[in-house]
Amino acid sequence: MNSGEKLKSVCNTCHAETLHDVLFEKKENGSEDITEDFLIQWGARWRVIQCRGCESIAMRLDAWNSEALDEKGRPEVETKYFPPRIFRQFPKWLRGDVLTQTCPDEVEGLMKELYVALQNDSRAAATMLIRAIFEHTMIDKVGDQKSFTANLNKFEAQGFIGKKHREVVGSMLEAGHASIHRAFVPAKEDLITLVDILEGVLQVVYVQVPKADEMKKRIPKRK
Ligand SMILES: [Zn+2]
Repeated sequence: MNSGEKLKSVCNTCHAETLHDVLFEKKENGSEDITEDFLIQWGARWRVIQCRGCESIAMRLDAWNSEALDEKGRPEVETKYFPPRIFRQFPKWLRGDVLTQTCPDEVEGLMKELYVALQNDSRAAATMLIRAIFEHTMIDKVGDQKSFTANLNKFEAQGFIGKKHREVVGSMLEAGHASIHRAFVPAKEDLITLVDILEGVLQVVYVQVPKADEMKKRIPKRK
């Protein structure tokens, strides 16, 4: 039953914030005695919402408890969506219909996992995956030189990556390493930068270079 309420929410299909109708709503709240003089209160508001643009349906949960308060002492509301909201689109060239033949299965599989991690805000896992995808790509193109730095050296020497980009990738390696060894969790903006760099490199290696090679073959040789 439509409650008549509407709210703005990011739509995974429209790729934008759109107006949604609330189709169903259920509120729950309660309290729990932890000790004789310590009580935790909590509340949850479930809503089934439908995008007015594309009519896709999702569920939104707003939850709070008396232990998580903001600086003014009010409960902080945590919002979750099911399915999770996509904050970044999966690269077009990696989607089923346009997937290039040159991209190895491992890279494609790890990219899909990366997007699951990104959608769920699993930033440490995402950082480790970025490093792994980079490693697979370099080994695929220049063979295994037995260390990340050596792979990167050869990757640069063979012209797959420019000097400046290589320096940035060096910092990406540090980030990946820090995730593994020191439980480093990058800020969301830094993670987006890492994903930008990774996708830029993948696009060059698996889309642009093969296209250029293909074109070269078609250009008639000078006599
Ligand atoms: Zn929509």
